[in-house]
Formats: sequence, C-alpha cells, structure tokens
Amino acid sequence: MVRRLCPFPFAGQPADIRGTPIDSAISCISLPDPAPVRPVLLTHLAKSASTQLTRHLQRGAKMTSREQRQETELLPDTEPAGAELPAGLDRRAFMMRSAIFGATAVITGCAAPTDQQVAAAPPAPAPPAAPPLSEDLNVVKKAKGPVMTTIDEFYKVGPGPSSSHTIGPMRITYDFYQRCAKLPADQLAKVTSMKVHLFGSLSATGQGHGTERAALAGIVGKEPATVEPEFLDGLAAKPDQTFPVKLGDKTLTMSLKDIVYDSPKGEFPHPNTMTCRLMGGDTVLLEQEYYSVGGGFIEWKGYQPPKKGQPKFPYSTMKELQSHADQNKLSIAQIVMANEVAVSGKSEVEINAFVDKIHGAMVNIVKAGLKAPESTLPGPIKLKTKAGDVYKRAMDDNYEKQRGVGVLAAYALAGSEENARGHLVVTAPTGGSAGVLPALVYALGEGGRNLPQDKLRNGFLAAAAIGYLCKHNATLSGAEGGCQAEIGVASAMGAAFIAQAHDFPHQVVANAAESSLQHHLGMTCDPVAGFVQVPCIERCAFGAVKAWTGFMIASNEIPTNRRVDFDTTVSAMALTAREMNAKYKETSEGGLAVSLVLC
Ligand code: SF4
Repeated sequence: MVRRLCPFPFAGQPADIRGTPIDSAISCISLPDPAPVRPVLLTHLAKSASTQLTRHLQRGAKMTSREQRQETELLPDTEPAGAELPAGLDRRAFMMRSAIFGATAVITGCAAPTDQQVAAAPPAPAPPAAPPLSEDLNVVKKAKGPVMTTIDEFYKVGPGPSSSHTIGPMRITYDFYQRCAKLPADQLAKVTSMKVHLFGSLSATGQGHGTERAALAGIVGKEPATVEPEFLDGLAAKPDQTFPVKLGDKTLTMSLKDIVYDSPKGEFPHPNTMTCRLMGGDTVLLEQEYYSVGGGFIEWKGYQPPKKGQPKFPYSTMKELQSHADQNKLSIAQIVMANEVAVSGKSEVEINAFVDKIHGAMVNIVKAGLKAPESTLPGPIKLKTKAGDVYKRAMDDNYEKQRGVGVLAAYALAGSEENARGHLVVTAPTGGSAGVLPALVYALGEGGRNLPQDKLRNGFLAAAAIGYLCKHNATLSGAEGGCQAEIGVASAMGAAFIAQAHDFPHQVVANAAESSLQHHLGMTCDPVAGFVQVPCIERCAFGAVKAWTGFMIASNEIPTNRRVDFDTTVSAMALTAREMNAKYKETSEGGLAVSLVLC
C-alpha cells in the first residue's frame, strides 16, 4: 500500500515508527509500508549523503587538486547505472549534488526538480535587505549618550507572548486613547470611528501574537501590568465581542475589526510601526504614528524622552561601568543602584520594593507554569506543554547530580509556556525570552539555593545593566536583530544575575554575560506560523542552561585571561543584526517558519 504521511507531529503513524528524524523523513515520502524500506534508505543516506557530505564539509572548500583527486577516487560506487554527467559538471560535484538532492528528497518528501523544471522556474528573488532604522528614533539617537534606562522601564509586567507585539501595542493604543480624550469638546463631538493600522512585523506576525487583541485592550482602557488574562483569552474565544469606548459625549462601539493588519512590507521608521487614527466621517481628527521598539518600550513620531536626572556614574559601555566599579570599589549592582536613584529620583527603598515586586511576579510565573496541567497551546502548531513533565522526570532521575539541568530547563519552560498562553510575564528583556531569567531567579531562590533576598536584588540590578547595555548599543528586538537580541540577551542577563548574586567580582559578572551572549550570536528569529512557541519555548530552556554554562566558565577561569570582552560581543551582535537577512527578523518568512510543515 502506498501512503503519504505527514512528518509533523507524527499524526496517524503507528507508535513504533515515531521518535526519530529518519523515521519522520521516511514516513513523509510516498512509499510502500515504511518498515521494510527503512534499512535501505538508511544505507542510501549514510553512503550517499552523510559520508560524502560530511567529509566534504569537514575538509572545507580549500582543497588542493591532489585532495580533490583523492576525494573523487574515494567516492563509493553508488552512482546509478547509466547516469550521465551534466555538461560543465565534474563527476565529484555531480555526486555531491546528487547526494544532497537525495537526502533532501527523503527528508522533505519532495522529488528533485528536472532540468526542464529548473529552466522554467522564475529567477529566485533577491533576499530582502534588512529594514533600516530611522535616525529620528530615540532608540537610535540615544546610543550617543550614557545609559539612562531605569529598572521600572526595563522590567515590565504584561501579557505574553511578545513584548513588542503585545505589551508595546497595548501601551500604544492606551496612550492614543488618552490623547483622544484630551481633545476639545467640539472636536470630540464629530467623532465617528477609531482605527489602528499595524505595519511591518506587527502585520506579518501580529495574528500569531494576538496583537489585535492587545491593541483593542489598550483602547478600552486596559494596561499591560493589570490586564486580566481572562479578558484576552475571552477575546480570542469570542472575537466578535464589541466594547463601548467613551470620548466626550460620544460612545464608539469598537471591536477587533477596528484593528487593521496593514502592509507587512514598506519603508517604515521601525519594523514595528503602528498608526492610530481618530476619524470624524472622512476627516482625520487626530493621527499618531507609533513604534514598538522592543521590550515593551514605545516611541512615536516626534518622541522626546522624558526628563530625567543625570546618572551618578555615567556609562555607555561595560568598560566604563567596570572603570567606575574599580575607581569607587563598588560592585556592578551598587553602581546600578546609585544610578537608579540619581536618574529616577526614587529612593533605594522604593527601588528595592520594585525589584521585590518583579521577583515575586517571576516566582509566581514559574510556579503557575509548573503546576498547569498538560495542555495544547493556542494556535495552529498544536504544541503540547511539557514543563510539569520535564520537572517531574528531572526530579525522579536516579542520578541526583544530573537533575539540575532538567530542573532548570523545566523552570524556563514553565515561564515560557505561561507567555505562550498569553498570561502575565515579565519582560527580561522581552516576552519571547521571558522564561530565561525567571528560571534562574527561581533556581537561586526558593526553587533551589535559597539565596538571601539582598543577593537576589543585586542579581536583578546586574542583570538589568546587561540588558541596558545591549539595548543601548545594539537592540532587544527580534524584529531588529533576530533571536540573539531576545534569548541571547536574556541568557547574558541570567549569567550576570547568577555571578552577581554569588558576589563574584565585576570582571566575572561581565565575562559570564559575554560568554552567554557570544554563543547566541547570529541566532535568527523565525517563529513558526508567527506564534511565540516554536522555537521560542524550548529556546528559553536552552537560554537558561547556557546562562549557567556561561557563569560556570567565567567563574572557573582567570577573569583577565578572557580574550573576548562584553562590549566586543555586543558590537558583534549589533553588526550581525544589521547584516541579518530581514527574513530572520520576526517576519516568519524564513528558517523554521517556512521549513516546518503544519498539518
Ligand atoms: S524566535 Fe526568539 S526572537 Fe523570535 S519570537 Fe521567538 S523568542 Fe522572540
């Protein structure tokens, strides 16, 4: 019997062929019953693809002609009888190409195209250029001065799954409503409608993030930190709901239909651009262009940053921060606290109270995720939650010393799954990466080491400094810099958190962050179907484990021996972000997003 089965998520397959990539690949192509052909395909792949391709890749492109001759002589006799070499192609290249096509056909279930098909195919479009950022954006301009971000701007509580696609848009529409409400009465008397237009990445992946629900919630007066998850869940379940929105003597009836998914492509000042418009018939009464610039931060056309105090220890790089630490014999956490007081005008007590609030929120998020029953997350991926299971199995591991990795991964999965449910999370630095830092906070607190509260506070301050510097000199937005800017920064913050909470010197804190960030450089953002689930959820688990690895490396080497410093790695992230293909910047147009077949 010939059958064609889908590789994901092994639906409809007998249990005995699930579980391995090769089984998935075999099951995807039209074949007789998979079991008998499995050994044949394995042999074919092993000989034709794996051996030759691996050998070729290991040797690299710079082979001598002698090496090429030897390589050709080593090719096994797997060439199909009667195969003719295309003109202009040597035998070795032909064999390599055949092996790759063969493996691709098996893995994807698609036959290689014929020469005629190739000739008739339209030319491949040029890869899209990375969207330029407007020089007018404050997030671009401010890179010239010292870090001015404060901790209550940085750690924000709000609904998942993506701070730039949920918290930012909700803050934007909330802000726009407030502006509208301040219009003169004669203007408000003309109001007939309000429309919100989403552009760029907000349009491309907003539906998967629930951006339209977040935007509507802001208009009806909901704020990210206090919106009830049930309100957003209710909108998802009943999208036709309408809400009265009062403006002066007028009451508009608004619904999700008033949030418009506009052009995903174009020349926007920022990839996450929104336009809000208040209409009186065909007349625009008020219009404002906004930008969700990452981590829940927002700006608008003509934005001027709020007036703040000057930092006591001005710094714009880690080198400058460490120099202050050395000269004043202070830790990174102490420098950050002194600056928070100077810039925000708040007292240490108030700042500590805010940190404790964020700490409490993170602990609650991890606990909620761990105790949530296994379920299927919203959206077309039909992804099962697994935090609770991973935690139980890790705790049951007979090898006690090996439980740590599983437990830490489970904590991160728990936070990340809460984010995917659209429940409240803390941006650290973003919603997509919101499982990483809570996992480490919980692991060093009541879920593990039980470090004292003041040590954890210090960890939060040092982690914030890492996030500030990445925001200041690179980006925190997947839409600008790919996933290195989200999970990579979260992991670096996590590593600094662990090092600072254990009172390591500032060089170890910086090195730990550098190590964790370095090993996320180049990581792309390609969420499947625009949902912050695959790869985001498991990526949080890896980010937390890599944070611990970064800390372990940094705390076990001579700090001054480290060859790469934090500032260099942040510069590398910024450079990589600039050169990264736009397909990998939260547009769901590349990578996993177009490779995974959903059925
Ligand atoms: S892939 Fe990374 S950057 Fe992109 S949405 Fe997921 S977590 Fe965020």
